[in-house]
Amino acid sequence: MTDVFADLVGQDEAVVTLRRAAASAAALLRAAAPALSRAGAPAAGGADPAGGYDDLDALAEQVDGPGTADDRAGAEPGAGMTHAWIFTGPPGSGRSVAARAFAAALQCVHGTGCGHCPGCHTTLTGTHADVRLVVPEGLSIGVNEMRALVLRAASTPSGGRWQIVIIEDADRLTEAAGNALLKAIEEPPPRTVFLLCAPSTHPDDISVTIRSRCRVVPLRQPPAGAVAEVLVRRDGIAPDVAEWAAAAAQGHVGRARRLARDPEARQRRDAVLAVPRRLTGVGAAFDAASALIEAAEAEAAASVAEVDEAERAALQTALGAGGTGRGAAGAMRGSAGQLKDLEKRQKSRATRAQRDALDRALVDLAGFYRDALTMALRAPVAPVHTDTAALAGAGAQKWEAEGALRRLEAVLECRAAIEANVKPRIAVEAMMLALWKG
Ligand SMILES: [Zn+2]
Repeated sequence: MTDVFADLVGQDEAVVTLRRAAASAAALLRAAAPALSRAGAPAAGGADPAGGYDDLDALAEQVDGPGTADDRAGAEPGAGMTHAWIFTGPPGSGRSVAARAFAAALQCVHGTGCGHCPGCHTTLTGTHADVRLVVPEGLSIGVNEMRALVLRAASTPSGGRWQIVIIEDADRLTEAAGNALLKAIEEPPPRTVFLLCAPSTHPDDISVTIRSRCRVVPLRQPPAGAVAEVLVRRDGIAPDVAEWAAAAAQGHVGRARRLARDPEARQRRDAVLAVPRRLTGVGAAFDAASALIEAAEAEAAASVAEVDEAERAALQTALGAGGTGRGAAGAMRGSAGQLKDLEKRQKSRATRAQRDALDRALVDLAGFYRDALTMALRAPVAPVHTDTAALAGAGAQKWEAEGALRRLEAVLECRAAIEANVKPRIAVEAMMLALWKG
């Protein structure tokens, strides 16, 4: 009963678009290789199941009839299948969940995303041979990584359906990597599908040329009620906890799930929400800034430590650490370079993790001052943080709407400054002083 789209919370329109595209894609496969798809298996050894055609758009016209693609007159937008897609929406709206679900529907042996067949299952668990997921580890996705990916994506799908590349946070592509990707999207191999995820289609997030080659699937910030429902249904979380977590996470599904399940995530949030109470003077403001920065560093270090260590061990094994035979000296020189590369990548990933952790803290803090503001205005809206509502109410009385708004703006300015590469400690100190002074 639950198919691959079941976890796309509050995104009915996007789901309709994706279901239709998956059905169209399945029809394309049937038309291209009727014997193969009826047999349910690709031809063995070298035979190319995609060999029957090389132009997806031309085939789409045959299958769906003329007028299916978006740019044809009288077309019904979103009906057909296309090679490149962008999923946009605010953090936590489920961009990557949507991309994975769509990938599963494309690989589904029934062509629907049934959620139970091997195609669906292996795609969702990340083990499908023809689905590659790129998650940026550092601040950006580099050109070498992208070139290698594009090359592999051009090969014939081993499962006889589609070769799929999912790029999470496509807004973190470097310009060179973007160009490498653009080339592939401009002249896509017949069975290759690119699924990009980005916050928006703003040129800062995705280049205009890439955007112009992709179909956009916009996702909305899901309502708290829908988030709570999925936490209860899918994760078996108690309804009252789910409701609290969904509100506190402000529509971010993954964050809501973490808050509901992970006591450490709750503790970190409690510490952040204790900040407004702690700001009793200049010294306290600097202390609070240090505490916030250090908590973000600790959280980030914990989140990357395990994978860092595993990578280092894997590289050392691959390089044959401790080898002394002939050629070992040359190998050592080469391996020093590889180790350095790895350290560079890991450092970049750690920086990203720190920024993400700090940003989560700032979003929580912004929620607190937003609550104070709505209370001062007596606006009929539910608080973000039900557990600190009393404190926000006291703030509302003391600061009034104007003071609450100034504080909210100080938090948002801090986020913007960090995004613009101001050193996080300086931005956070300035914010804490502004919050204290009001
Ligand atoms: Zn399936």
